[in-house]
Amino acid sequence: LIMDQTPHIVILPTPGMGHLIPLAELATRLVLRHGFTATFITYAESASKAQTAYLASLPPSVASLSLPPVDLADLSPTACIETRICVTAARSVPALARLLRDLKDGRHVVAFVADLFGGDSLVAAREVGVPAYVFFPSNLLTLSVILHLPALDAAVSCEFRDLPEPLKLPGCVPIPGSELISPIQDRKDDAYRWVVNLARKYREAEGILVNTFDEIEPEASEVLKKVQAGRPPVYTVGPLIHTGGASSTDASGCLSWLDKQPRSSVLFVSFGSGGTLSTEQTRELALGLECSGQRFIWVVRSPSDQKADANFFNAQSATDSFEFLPEGFTERTRDVGLVVSSWAPQIEILKHESTGGFLTHCGWNSTLESVVYGVPMIAWPLYAEQKQNAVMLVEGTKIALRAKAGADGVVRKDAISRTVKELMEGEEGKAVRHKVKELQAAGAKALAEDGKSSKALAEIANKWKGML
Ligand code: UDP
Repeated sequence: LIMDQTPHIVILPTPGMGHLIPLAELATRLVLRHGFTATFITYAESASKAQTAYLASLPPSVASLSLPPVDLADLSPTACIETRICVTAARSVPALARLLRDLKDGRHVVAFVADLFGGDSLVAAREVGVPAYVFFPSNLLTLSVILHLPALDAAVSCEFRDLPEPLKLPGCVPIPGSELISPIQDRKDDAYRWVVNLARKYREAEGILVNTFDEIEPEASEVLKKVQAGRPPVYTVGPLIHTGGASSTDASGCLSWLDKQPRSSVLFVSFGSGGTLSTEQTRELALGLECSGQRFIWVVRSPSDQKADANFFNAQSATDSFEFLPEGFTERTRDVGLVVSSWAPQIEILKHESTGGFLTHCGWNSTLESVVYGVPMIAWPLYAEQKQNAVMLVEGTKIALRAKAGADGVVRKDAISRTVKELMEGEEGKAVRHKVKELQAAGAKALAEDGKSSKALAEIANKWKGML
């Protein structure tokens, strides 16, 4: 039997397109620039149409396999997404080890890369003698919070939201306890234990690759890139965003509509693949946009009054009709606004010269996409690490404005209208626009042939190749 000598990496993305997309970019770079082949192993639970199509569009030297489904019947129906994903990862270890062993039979598997919630799967790689790495699809701030959790868990006795002072981690902007990542907001919930456990598992990785770049978090990058005993080396390899074409058709008509609008005049409003607003908040947002008088494209999903992440596994709206919008809204805003259901070609919209602002839930992929195309933001975080991202973008990086919520948690139409006008026409808007353009240039430089992020990835690739 002649063994294929090409270095091969095996990648396990957490369910959710926001995890698959940057990992696919990582794989594509390793394939095209460093001569690797790759296999994606996916969870049966995440086999959405979007994911299958996405995997099929990757270069031919990127293959994919699926793990068998995991039984989660014993979990409470109210268990958080983070718990579901971590339990799935832990229960998939034996099947994953089998798949890795099979792959090793015919190929030179040089590394295994799991992402964010894959902490528990690293052990499967070690079992079969493959070096295990973590790819962290969010930023250094979130990585810092996770890495510090075991110590915080021991030192803090109250709920984090009751901390009297914002949490100040080395190199990071201070974060009020209530804005820290959502799965640690209730320390009695299983999700909290799972995330503390992740921090311990990360320590066992050979390295952590982070989808960020130094200039967007300069101080954190200085701190985390220093070698430190008890913590794997950290590499910043971003901003990796979806670059392949052909994924988006203009079925929603967004692009042809944008073609007819003035330069930098349109605010793009979207809450990522899973974000959903309450009925009341949806109304206020509609009225705020209308009142601002600015042009907009709004990706609207049916409201959900229970959970802000109601659409995490399926971006489709419950209904395509917009009967929940204020009466007459669509007619009154017909000349300035476009409302689309569920999903829009976000990258093409951000790239378009008519787009001048992005009201975003601050998912890290969306944030990086906005930076790569130089679009200033309004931060409207909902769940996961979005609230602390918002604090960083508004107070640290200064590339976003934020509309304040009232005591009841609802952002009212006046605050929305004011912030939208400020971003599109005001002085503060000008300042964040200027800063985001600077970061756009820095991000492009980091990913150029001899840029810092490309060099970091080359270093890792060479290390992996040396293991042949
Ligand atoms: N996205 C898109 N169209 C939409 C909503 C989302 O293309 O209508 C893409 C977006 O460009 C980004 C990803 O889905 O690449 C969302 O990832 P992010 O990390 O921003 O948020 P998540 O969906 O994970 O909350």
